[in-house]
Amino acid sequence: MSKKTPSYLVILCNECNYYFGKHKKSKLNCPRCGSLQNSPQIYGRVDDSNSLHDLVSELNIPEELRSDFKNLNQNNEDINEPNNLIDLIPMMFNETTNSEGELTLVDVEKYVKKKNLKITPRELLEVCEFEGLLIRLHGEKWKVISESL
Ligand SMILES: [Zn+2]
Repeated sequence: MSKKTPSYLVILCNECNYYFGKHKKSKLNCPRCGSLQNSPQIYGRVDDSNSLHDLVSELNIPEELRSDFKNLNQNNEDINEPNNLIDLIPMMFNETTNSEGELTLVDVEKYVKKKNLKITPRELLEVCEFEGLLIRLHGEKWKVISESL
């Protein structure tokens, strides 16, 4: 038994599906919802706090995305609701941008009409700008800010 490396358990909260790290001596309460894990679901085990931190943040981000996708699939009517915009925007980019990654107000108007969205093209573009996904060029033209730039 080595005493040099503390080991942590990575626990999946039974209540809120949040992953968190637990040191041997720390309590079995979820730091997010406070629920005591009577029968903890142990996801894994790491030996230092850095890898614990990395693993926990990695696990929790995809979990949130997954639940968004789940909601999207379960209830297709919700696709038109503004709270699913973040899922919608990449799809819109796929359909509306040209080979330069640019799109115009007219493209977005067509898309909004086609998908019967409850948002105006300008609102949609504003969300994209606010989220840092689009940059406004001259006139009624925008460009997708992609990772490849
Ligand atoms: Zn929890």
